[in-house]
Parts: sequence; C-alpha cells; structure tokens
Amino acid sequence: MSRYDFTTQRLYVESDLGAGGVVAATPDQMNYLCNVLRLKDGDPVLLFNGRHGEWRARLGTRSKRALALDVGEQTRPQEGGPDIDYLFAPLKRSRLDYMVQKATEMGVARLRPVLTRRTIAERVNVERLAANAVEAAEQCGILRVPSVAPPEKLGAVLANWDSGRRLIFCDEDAETTSPLAALGGAGGGSPPLALLIGPEGGFAPEERSAVLAVPGVVRLSLGPRILRADTAAVAALALVNACLGDWR
Ligand code: SAH
Repeated sequence: MSRYDFTTQRLYVESDLGAGGVVAATPDQMNYLCNVLRLKDGDPVLLFNGRHGEWRARLGTRSKRALALDVGEQTRPQEGGPDIDYLFAPLKRSRLDYMVQKATEMGVARLRPVLTRRTIAERVNVERLAANAVEAAEQCGILRVPSVAPPEKLGAVLANWDSGRRLIFCDEDAETTSPLAALGGAGGGSPPLALLIGPEGGFAPEERSAVLAVPGVVRLSLGPRILRADTAAVAALALVNACLGDWR
C-alpha cells in the first residue's frame, strides 16, 4: 500500500487546485488551523478537492477574518476507486454519522439514502452526510469523496433501476452460505455495483420481494447472526471490496 503523510493536517476544499494557486480557508478551517492546531504563518497543510489530487500548501496571508493557503506542489495524483453506490436506510443520528464515515473509509463512490417503510429517521440531513464523508476522507487520506444523492423512496429507486448496475442486497433472510461464492457469481471483473442495506427494523415483506425482483440481484447473507445496519455496512463492504472492488 502507498504510504502517505499522516502528520500534516489534510483539508478538503471546494476550489480548483494547482501550483501557485491561493485558496481561502473557510471560517471553520481558519478557526481549526489557527486556534485549535495553533499553526503559524508558513506552516504546511495538505489540500484536496476530490478532483485534482493532493497538494501541499502553506498558511499565508492572514487577517482577522481571512486566511490564505498558498498552494505548492502536488503530493499525490487524483485517485479513483471502485464504482460502488451505497444504498442505505437512514438511521438515527450518531449511528448514521458512523455508518457514513465507515462507508467512506471503505471507498464507496456514492452515498444514496433510501427511504423504506421502516426507516426510523424522519428527515435526512444531506449536508450532514456530506460533512461526515469529508471528515472521514480528511482523516484517512482518501482523495475521492463520495457524492451524496438526495433521499429517494425505495419504490422509486427500484422503478428507475439502471440495468447496468449490479444490485447486491444484504438480506438476513437469505440462506447462510458462503458470501464469497454469492459474490463470485456477481459477474467478475469490476461491474458497476450497488450495495443495499436496510433499516434497523429490516425490510417489509413486499419491499423484500420488490428488491429481489431486480434483474441480476445478488442476495448476500452476512452470516448466521443479525447485524445492526452500521455493522452490516462494514462487513458487506469488506466482502464486496475483496471479491469485486479494489482489495484484489
Ligand atoms: N430484520 C431485522 C434486522 C435488520 S438489520 C429486524 O427484524 O430487526 C438491518 C439491515 O442489516 C438488514 O436490513 C440487512 O440489510 C442487514 N443485515 C443484518 N444482518 C444481516 C445478515 N446476517 N445478512 C445479511 N444482511 C444483514
């Protein structure tokens, strides 16, 4: 595995990145760098934006309310990753935060909240999902930050299913057989994938039938024990990455 710099603070920015550029820190970033980390003029940070790789920058001109980050050289090129949509029923706050962070660390490309009959969370805070994804990427050195789709109802998701994307359905009612064998039959190579995990209360019977009717769906058992949704996310993504993603 490539080793990279974990001692320098890494920050996600929206702006384009290139040698000689200047990026304005957000008020939160400025506060964090100057007041929490107590960095000084000229101290290094690492910047990434999900498009242009990772760049070394230094704290530059600072006024009361603004801090410039002067971009130097590129430290890593932009990386891609497996084409995995992660579809999940939103959970209550702290578990959802955790699940989004873990899914990001496991390298998903897109986060897609799906509303099901037994979804507990009443509303989904898309900004919060995105902020958790950014935080996980900053900490783990991931350069591709997953995009966050607006929440959609399960019925609509299934009705508009893209036939080129292979659906992997984590189903605690599936027969417990080898997950490796189940995923081995998922097409080989690296097809576009989608992984679906249900809410704490599971899927309603008619929802399960509708999911199982998606052409080519792979029904995945995660063993003989029922896992909580956030645990299931990590377990399933480890299997998917090992069999079909970028752990091979
Ligand atoms: N049916 C449950 C539990 C749901 S667990 C209940 O009655 O409360 C939440 C989600 O995690 C499920 O919808 C499923 O997608 C996934 N999951 C949990 N354990 C699993 C297992 N052993 N195999 C496959 N998926 C599992």
